[in-house]
Formats: sequence, structure tokens, C-alpha cells
Amino acid sequence: MTYQRLDIRLPSPAPGVQLTVLAHQFGNRSNARSAYLHAGLHADEHPGLLVLQHLLEQLRQLDAAGAIDGLVTVVPYANPIGMSQRLFGAVVGRFDFENGENFNRNFPLLDKMVAAYLAKAPDPARSPNQWRSVFSKMLDEATAIGPSQALKLELAKLSMEHDIVLDLHCDTDCIAHVYASELQVERATLLANLLGAPVVMLEPRQAGGGAFDQVHSSAWGTVQAAGLLSERDSGFSATVELRGQADVSDELAAADASSLLRFLESEGVLTAEAARTQRSPGEPTFAFPLEGASHVPCPCAGVIVYRKAPGDQVSVGEVIAEVVRLDGDEFNQRVPILSTVDGVMIVRQLKRLVRPGERAALLAGKRPVRDGQAGSLLLDF
Ligand SMILES: [Zn+2]
Repeated sequence: MTYQRLDIRLPSPAPGVQLTVLAHQFGNRSNARSAYLHAGLHADEHPGLLVLQHLLEQLRQLDAAGAIDGLVTVVPYANPIGMSQRLFGAVVGRFDFENGENFNRNFPLLDKMVAAYLAKAPDPARSPNQWRSVFSKMLDEATAIGPSQALKLELAKLSMEHDIVLDLHCDTDCIAHVYASELQVERATLLANLLGAPVVMLEPRQAGGGAFDQVHSSAWGTVQAAGLLSERDSGFSATVELRGQADVSDELAAADASSLLRFLESEGVLTAEAARTQRSPGEPTFAFPLEGASHVPCPCAGVIVYRKAPGDQVSVGEVIAEVVRLDGDEFNQRVPILSTVDGVMIVRQLKRLVRPGERAALLAGKRPVRDGQAGSLLLDF
């Protein structure tokens, strides 16, 4: 057995309160690849929390069987601050009560530091292990005082010790999908396909936002784009959207945990044969550019009724939903919402009382849409 547990203490937010990030580690540092997974960075997204409990059980069995070749680190809840934020009973875990900041934004990005290193270093790092050390040293220079800043820095530092980094999320009501760098199409598509996710959203290097997966893609992507590492030798990070907020069940979680193990097996981190429960082959996975993501707003206040479900094909001008006005002159008056892309519906709202400007749906199309601006491709809300 190689198991060890880490308890990372964060600055106390108030007298008498101690915040701790917990990490479980299996295996050892070796020449095999290492992997890091966490869930619940948005603390109101719970499918990943259950998936990781199933994964931990399977990892313990694999560890006992000597089947873990590299190092696997699992942080079962990434955001103790957000999990403790309750407002009249509801967990408000996407935004920090301290300053309104999205918990999955403003992570430290390393592209500029890596570019400066490349410009100066006469003999730059060569192997993935050496590059990881370079990136880790850059993060070591960063400082954080407040609990949320410290949380982000600790997650960035711990995950940077690994080659494969997976951040488990979900959306309101949606199909499974994966966000990853456009420089990592092959691995992102394999990961999505193993999870039964029909869609991959490919992020350009200048997507902006500072999401957690970009800590890694900003660093590895700069090295890869400079021609110093191949797609396969670079580290890989992805944000995995495990369907909708209500999609929490043992059946889904056990299947997702097995799918993640199979992905880690494909990366040479472990041998998952013994723990494998085969997911029935899903639909093919299609990749879409993040510039083709369209966040369609609600036109007015009322009750939204959907004509399309997540996973449905949509075409430009097609009615995807209607908002029923409750205060109009006519009874049961409908205002249609039209598709802005030829593509697929990814996400829709779970709660059906909407207001103007609220996102009615996230659609993915192949062609860039007008609202897809470089540097601000990720919606904060
Ligand atoms: Zn999320």
C-alpha cells in the first residue's frame, strides 16, 4: 500500500474557524505519468463529489493490487469556503461571498512567465518532468493572503506536481461535455468519449478568464506552441462537466469513476483492468471551438418552456424555447427564443422562472459567433 493523506491548512477566515483542503495520494513519483483530480471547485456542483468517492474506493483496490504505476492525487472537495456559504438553506458555491468573484476564475496563468523564461534561458528544460519543476518554481514565487486566494494558489501548486489534471464540474441541466485546450484535441476527445460525453469545447490559448484548467494549459501550451514538446508529451488538463446539477446517482458516479480510470490507464498512470466496468459505447464525440459557443439570453421575465433538450441538434432561427409572460395583455403569451447557431444544445436552465438577460441556453456551433471575443470567451456567470 502506498496511500498517504495530506491536510493543507488555509488561512483562518474568522477566529475559531479552520479551513482545510484534504488530498488523498496513491502510488509514487516514478517515470510513469501522474494525475490529479478534484471536484466541487464550484461548490454548488455535486456530481463530481460522488464520482471521486467511487474513484477513491477503486484506487484503494488498485493500490492494494500494485496496479498504480505513477502518482494519483485526489482532492475530494476543492472548495471548503464555497461549501460553507449557505443563504437561507441553499449552497451558494459559485461566487465568493467575500467579493463576488467566480471561484473558477483568476487562477494564476503562466504563459507570460513561461514565454519570458524561454526568451532568457540558453538551455531550456527538456523533459516533461523538468518543465513541471520550472512551472512549480514559478507558482512558488506567488503569494496569497486571504483564504480564497490561498485556496486557489494551493490547488494550483498541488496540481502542478502532476502531468494530467482533471477538474470535475457540472452545469444546470446539460449533457456531459469537456473543455480543454485546442492544442490537446486527441486526449480531450478520448476523455469525453470514455465518459459518454458527445461534445468537446476547444479553448484557444487566449480564451482568458483564468479558469483552473488554464493554469496548466497556459504553461504547457506555451511550451508546446514553441515546438519544445509534442502534444503527447505535454501535460494535459481539462474541465469535465458531469451533466446537470441534479444528475447525482451511484450508477452514474460508478460509471464515471471507471471511465476516468480508463483514461488514466490510457495515459500510463495505472492499470485499471481489474477495476474496469465497461460503459456501453456512447455516441460519437464532436469537437467545437469555444468561439462557437453561444450563450442565448432570455428576452423577458416569465416562465421558460423548452422546445429542445440538451443534446438536441439545433439550427439557426429554430425555436428552442419560449418565455411565457405572466404580465402581458394576452393570456399565455409566448416570446420565442431562437437558436443562434447550427449545432447542438449543451445546457439549459434548471429553474424555469427567468428574467431578461439570464442565460436561456448554451449552444455549440462550428462557426465563431459574434459574442465569442478572444480574452473573454468564458462567461463569468
Ligand atoms: Zn462549475
